[in-house]
Amino acid sequence: MQNGQGNNRDMISVYNPSDGSLVGTVQAGTAHDVDEAVRETGDAFQSWSRTDPPERSKILFSAAGRIRADQKNLATLLTREQGKPLKESMNEIAGFSRVLEYYASISGMLRGDYGVSRQYGHMMVRREPIGVCAAIIPWNLPALIMSWKIGPVLASGNTMVLKPSSTAPLTCLALVGHLYEAGLPLSVVRIVTGSGDEVGEALARHQDIRALSFTGAVRTGIRVAEIAAPTLKKTILELGGSDAMIVCQDADPDLAAKGAVSGRFFNCGQTCTAIKRVFVDKKISDQFIRRVREYAGALKVGNGLEKGVDMGPVHTMSQRDALHSQVEETITREMATVLCGGTLPDSSSCMGSFYHPTILTDVDPDAPVMNNEVFGPVLPISTFDSLEEAITRANATRFGLGASIWTHDMRIISKATEELKAGIVWVNQHLRIPPEVPFGGTKFSGIGRENGRYALEQYLEEKTILIQP
Ligand code: NDP
Repeated sequence: MQNGQGNNRDMISVYNPSDGSLVGTVQAGTAHDVDEAVRETGDAFQSWSRTDPPERSKILFSAAGRIRADQKNLATLLTREQGKPLKESMNEIAGFSRVLEYYASISGMLRGDYGVSRQYGHMMVRREPIGVCAAIIPWNLPALIMSWKIGPVLASGNTMVLKPSSTAPLTCLALVGHLYEAGLPLSVVRIVTGSGDEVGEALARHQDIRALSFTGAVRTGIRVAEIAAPTLKKTILELGGSDAMIVCQDADPDLAAKGAVSGRFFNCGQTCTAIKRVFVDKKISDQFIRRVREYAGALKVGNGLEKGVDMGPVHTMSQRDALHSQVEETITREMATVLCGGTLPDSSSCMGSFYHPTILTDVDPDAPVMNNEVFGPVLPISTFDSLEEAITRANATRFGLGASIWTHDMRIISKATEELKAGIVWVNQHLRIPPEVPFGGTKFSGIGRENGRYALEQYLEEKTILIQP
């Protein structure tokens, strides 16, 4: 299944987080495999970059259709290796196709510029693909994040070497198989599986890779940027977030509570733009918190392949333990009140890395769950007296990925959308993002943008041509 590697190699095992069973194995690639993949994709760049955009679009549209037709199988594989409920996996696979179709529809649209000057003659600006690009993908939304990287790269005539996460690589491999079947030349995209230390760092270090898009943890992003710096490759970093949700006095408490629960517990809380801190106006806090508790309490937790399951396990045992430590520390230091959850399920009755949906109230601003990114199903709720206080507290984090404000008052919307320091500000919604708009953060949430035509621009370089007739 994996391309570019031989037999007799070290293997990486992929386990189902719901029951610990083996889902599959992939090869543990090496820096040598990266070299080979970069050479092949470099050769392929010569013809792919000269392929007419409509031809490229045809392949992307066809791949999107094939992936839709195979949605159930791909979604089942995604649930088995990642843990999320099947309905979320189905949406994520559909999202992959939607993103591919979006880029297929705008391939070739960024055409450059033209003008005439008496002094300089014809002035042209060509937009050219930049070469071999690399992508490093995490495990939380592997298919969607892969589409955000592969879509603009292929549509703009570049080629790509992609490293999936070691704990969820199988869906990425299956998706690229559909691209090949749709007619994508094999050497235009190469996947190299393997550890971050070996394969990831080899990609960051490689001289012949002209752009690298990384999604993952802040510390890894900084390491990748440091290693990549001497090669002067364009480096796009999509890192973590600690999104705030501000619920104002005039908000519909029921709608906001539903939004808080879906925005936090989707994907078992393991989404960079999940709601990670809620600030609710004191005047409606009782009502709001009561509803949040009801909705969170109704979530069915279990194996994502079982019918009716709303939330799967945390992706790995070690991640669940790290999450529980953050919660335990907050509770032990009496920095919050536990409204529900906060304990580990009985390990004798379940093998998976499950965690109860947890709601913390009266949370101290200095609590670990307020200051570090919490990547799991834990929702800390605080109250506020004034909008200024809510915005100040929402901004009091090193992250700046997303934020939302829940109100219908235009003056509040105008103030909050201006003052919240984030790459995305939602009003009366959170988390949802269509393919057309840019996605990315400020401060420690990253550098650069994915999604939309903005991503396409990042993979094109302007060439100025001056013709004196
Ligand atoms: P990691 O940073 O550990 O891993 C992400 C990817 O980087 C994986 O493919 C991993 O490989 C690879 N990697 C690990 N070490 C290195 C290295 N030294 N050099 C190069 N690559 C490396 O993050 P997680 O997988 O734990 O993902 C969760 C984090 O990602 C969270 O903090 C979350 O907020 C953030 N995230 C941000 C998003 C955004 O768009 N802003 C979206 C999704 C997640 P391997 O699996 O082999 O270790």
